[in-house]
Amino acid sequence: MYVGRFAPTTSGPLHLGSLLAAVASYLDARAHDGQWLLRLDDIDEQRATADAEQIALATLKHHGLSWDGLISRQVHNRDRYWNAIDTLRSRGLTFYCTCSRKKLRNESTYPGYCRTRHEKPNVPASIRVLVPDIEFSFTDRIQGSVRGNLADQEGDFIVLRKESIVSYPLAVVIDDDVTGVTDVVRGADLLESTLAQIFLIRTLNLSEQRYAHIPVLNQRDGVKLSKRDRAFAIDNRTPVLNLVSALHMLGLNPPSKYKDVHKLLAWATEQWDIRSVPKGRSILDFMSI
Ligand code: GLU
Ligand code: ZN
Repeated sequence: MYVGRFAPTTSGPLHLGSLLAAVASYLDARAHDGQWLLRLDDIDEQRATADAEQIALATLKHHGLSWDGLISRQVHNRDRYWNAIDTLRSRGLTFYCTCSRKKLRNESTYPGYCRTRHEKPNVPASIRVLVPDIEFSFTDRIQGSVRGNLADQEGDFIVLRKESIVSYPLAVVIDDDVTGVTDVVRGADLLESTLAQIFLIRTLNLSEQRYAHIPVLNQRDGVKLSKRDRAFAIDNRTPVLNLVSALHMLGLNPPSKYKDVHKLLAWATEQWDIRSVPKGRSILDFMSI
């Protein structure tokens, strides 16, 4: 049984790039007669807002993207995250890091300064996980074969931030495991983090997912659209138009006769072929400029 999901971070309104991820994951799930779950990624409580949450839900509803079952939230999994960190710690795989942002400013790979710090210091510290110096690979349904060595990339990565906020790669592997997700369809900006996630999944013995990373939407200057770009927040008054834009970017060519989101999505589900999604990590947002 296919179980897919959409997991918006609720720190700002959805933009066209998030709609693209929502539509792609929805269509892939529906085309497989699968379930499509909704999770609110609200672990960063300093930034997540109830407003953003309501806007995200309203946007999905306006666009006919109805999810199955109850909405899940990262804050509900907090104990599970802490247990996972404890498991890593009890196996000697973590250490406390007191390095400041400034100290690491010029490092793309964590240089290992605090690797031997196994006791909790009296100053604020993050918790990092020791990564093995081996190559991981997986086959992405859109991007093809992806491989990399965590030790050469980010290096020992953070699982718990100094402010006691669980990091995204740790949270997401637990979330997807708990909800029985089989298929992850999301933006290629998360491709790099996927190797860290696979490492955590295997280390913690969690369920593995199939991945499909869709290209992220760039503005003309090559900058990724982000939640801060309010100009790109989705206009809920034009859902058909927005969906048509998203479908074009996903390699479909919707006929102009559909004036209703449900009929348009039903058509798109019939037509959905992940092989038509443009490969590559980014595409220009040609519709909205
Ligand atoms: N919450 C993440 C985001 O909005 C996506 C998480 C995921 O799809 O794995 O960027
Ligand atoms: Zn350090």
